[in-house]
Amino acid sequence: MLEAEVFKDSFRRINLYYEVRPKIHAAKEIVKYILSHKGKSGIIYCLSRKKVEELAQSLQVNGIKALPYHAGMDAATRARTQDMFIMEDIDVIVATIAFGMGIDKPDVRFVIHFDVPKSLEGYYQETGRAGRDGEIGKQLLLETVSYAESSVCRPKVLLNYFGEQMEGVCGNCDNCLNPKEEFEGKNYISTALEVILEVKERFKAEHVAWILTGTKNSAIKAYSHHKLEIFGIGSEKDDRFWNAIIRQALIARFVTKDIDNYGLLKLNPAGLEFLDHPYSIKVTQDHDYEKSMDNEGSGGAGGGGVMDEELFSLLKDLRKKIAKKNQLPPFVIVSAIPYYSGRIAKYRRSGGWQSLQIWKGICRPYKNSCRRERN
Ligand SMILES: [Zn+2]
Repeated sequence: MLEAEVFKDSFRRINLYYEVRPKIHAAKEIVKYILSHKGKSGIIYCLSRKKVEELAQSLQVNGIKALPYHAGMDAATRARTQDMFIMEDIDVIVATIAFGMGIDKPDVRFVIHFDVPKSLEGYYQETGRAGRDGEIGKQLLLETVSYAESSVCRPKVLLNYFGEQMEGVCGNCDNCLNPKEEFEGKNYISTALEVILEVKERFKAEHVAWILTGTKNSAIKAYSHHKLEIFGIGSEKDDRFWNAIIRQALIARFVTKDIDNYGLLKLNPAGLEFLDHPYSIKVTQDHDYEKSMDNEGSGGAGGGGVMDEELFSLLKDLRKKIAKKNQLPPFVIVSAIPYYSGRIAKYRRSGGWQSLQIWKGICRPYKNSCRRERN
């Protein structure tokens, strides 16, 4: 078709909150998280069936209505689990990646990746390059690890990965809410770009970082890169530091990663321009999750504000009852329970009960229980 209109929307999803946490006491952290988001639907992805079973069990032991879901279970069990999830007989599904593609449930409130995913969302299928295995597989893994460790705004990194540039930052991811200290990156970025040019844009980030730090390993020796004048030019910093600098050069569009060629780094016109006329650019260091166990429980904005737990569960129960009677999934009856319970709680605080018309059946007993509470 010639002159066809192309409609392409942004990959960005403004209503999502992204957060990466160190995997320390992971199961315990997940239990804590779910219990503090009681009654909300969520999916947890694990890479192995075994892990799926184990985690589902630890959630159940902790009083969470959760079930496992993976390809090793028979179709009837899987269908039943999916139905229970939609009908809110369970809150959480622990699944291998296979789950969730065809699921029609608009009110899933959280998705947790227990393991570092093999690829950044959908990338694996989209590029369809599983056959090149070894090398590419490793590349992908590095990609997701570096996503996790990056201290740059999460959606910004993700969108950049999918070839989309985001202006500014989202203001609502863990990195935006707990920003790392910025420092002047002009010289660091220039140095990294010079090294990329020096090796004729034929090497990937990992290798460029080795040259910068002066790491004399077999790959470096194979190309005699230890004999380059610039070898070790950035040895006052470590690998991790330089990889973060390179990643931020990618996000600034100074550099492109040639995905078709195992991720070789190439300079863009903007990168060459920057080398000629460097200017101030702020950068941040990566998270070091191994070191920073102290930011445990940093929280973030995932919770969605103050909510009255009791009211929330009353509303949920009522909704479920109505749904059962009408043989419909609960979200069809009303989807925004947190919103309504927030509104009702506000009425409670302001004492404006009379003007409250919605869901009287719930509000009356609730009002009475509040009264009892006061006496
Ligand atoms: Zn952000």
